[in-house]
Amino acid sequence: MSDKSKLCIHTITTKPWKLTEAVDRYAQAGVKGISVWQDSAQELGATKSGNLIRENGMEVVSYVRGGFFPHATKGKREKAIADNKKMIDEAAELGAPMLVLVCGAEPEQALEESRKQIQGGIESLIDHAAQRKVELTIEPLHPMYADTRSAINTLQQANEIAEAVTSEWVGVAVDVYHLWWDPDLKNQIYRCQKNGNLSAFHICDWNVPTNDMLLDRGLMGEGCIPLDQIKKWVMDSGFKGYHEVEIFSEKFWKTDQKDFLDKIVKSYSAYWES
Ligand code: ZN
Repeated sequence: MSDKSKLCIHTITTKPWKLTEAVDRYAQAGVKGISVWQDSAQELGATKSGNLIRENGMEVVSYVRGGFFPHATKGKREKAIADNKKMIDEAAELGAPMLVLVCGAEPEQALEESRKQIQGGIESLIDHAAQRKVELTIEPLHPMYADTRSAINTLQQANEIAEAVTSEWVGVAVDVYHLWWDPDLKNQIYRCQKNGNLSAFHICDWNVPTNDMLLDRGLMGEGCIPLDQIKKWVMDSGFKGYHEVEIFSEKFWKTDQKDFLDKIVKSYSAYWES
């Protein structure tokens, strides 16, 4: 049997399942980690969700997702900080060591301004994050999302913010879907790990053609992402964490989720052994 000790799945990957069913099925399939999306924790609440996951022999890897800091008005920016504090509290109740940040972007203003607001937002959360022992994990997103989802589009930009704020409560998530195209990816992965900031690694594949910019991610091995290469860089850099399967797919969500989970485990095993 293949080694699944580093296999984590994001609950959104099997979106049609409630958390109770996902936990049951993942545990049976030998999955070791779960990254919990906010809506899936609502069935039981954060504390009970975390307990259920641990009782089933799995670990909560991260809570997803906070962020969305940039806004044109001060009032909205302050509301974002309050929302993020609440999510940090939920992550702590869940027992998640990190809160993944989709940093946000405001199309009415320059990306540079949005980046300043993102850094400011993260800085204003550090004390709260430290108190609750939850790391704020910056996830750079593909530039196709620079309009409204994130002004942080390269690993270099995420590294720069993480290094500028110099807190052990701030780190970075590398997601192959967002970063595979970057010619500087290898250097930035090494830089991220060397500075103690490489906290999470998300995997899936880029379908060719891609039919939807958000909801058409592929299983590992189905698309054009050089997964072997990126995995090697991440592991050679010294990363010891989970390899988190995060697939948003209208196509797979319409299928039997048990078959889909079998496919995930198979494609993960092929990926892991390659
Ligand atoms: Zn991700």
